[in-house]
Amino acid sequence: MPYYGYYGYGYDPLYLIIVLVTTVVGLMAQGYINSTYRRWSKVPSDGETGKQVARRMLDASGCGRVGILGTPGHLSDHYDPRDNNLYLSRENLSGGSVASVAVACHEAGHAAQRESGYFMMKVRHALVPVVNFTQNVWTIVFLLGFMMDMAGLTWLAIAMFAFSVLFQLVTLPVEIDASRRAVAYIEGSGMSEVNVRGARKVLTAAALTYVAAALSSVLQLMYLLARTHRDDDN
Ligand SMILES: [Zn+2]
Repeated sequence: MPYYGYYGYGYDPLYLIIVLVTTVVGLMAQGYINSTYRRWSKVPSDGETGKQVARRMLDASGCGRVGILGTPGHLSDHYDPRDNNLYLSRENLSGGSVASVAVACHEAGHAAQRESGYFMMKVRHALVPVVNFTQNVWTIVFLLGFMMDMAGLTWLAIAMFAFSVLFQLVTLPVEIDASRRAVAYIEGSGMSEVNVRGARKVLTAAALTYVAAALSSVLQLMYLLARTHRDDDN
């Protein structure tokens, strides 16, 4: 949570309600993906590991040169566009469950996005350096504006925060598209129906965590805009 809560904003009941609602929604989304993943990680796939199915999907998507490596942690799976490799957690790399296959194919979907020049992924990639800067700096600028009573700085900070919100909104279609590609491959490559059904469930639950994060930042931005506008009028 941003630090400005300690400087007066924390006493605004509306702000406390927003913090409470976004925290509860975030925890619910996290709980849902954890329980859905756990349930489907007990259901065996068709005898292949996440790595094996992701390899097939990559090769079928023109991503033969994309490597598949392991990474520590639980649900830490990701695709790194910098070195063009998939990084799968151990349970999804060598695990042979419906959930392992779903997650591994979702990451392969990101590599396929890059291979096909998917537009929203390019936009997201272009925003990364901007957001890395603005998300570190915006609270400092906001605090300075607040303490020095300079509306210009406050608005600059809000514009910086808006980039993080934009980033999360652009992330949504990128994530949903990667999941769509994963389910399409699992279904189209003739895997059994339980794999298709499980992949849909697991990847929908994963998408909800991104929806919750985006909703939370949109609410925060709306609050900041309304509050700063109101303070400007006083
Ligand atoms: Zn993803």
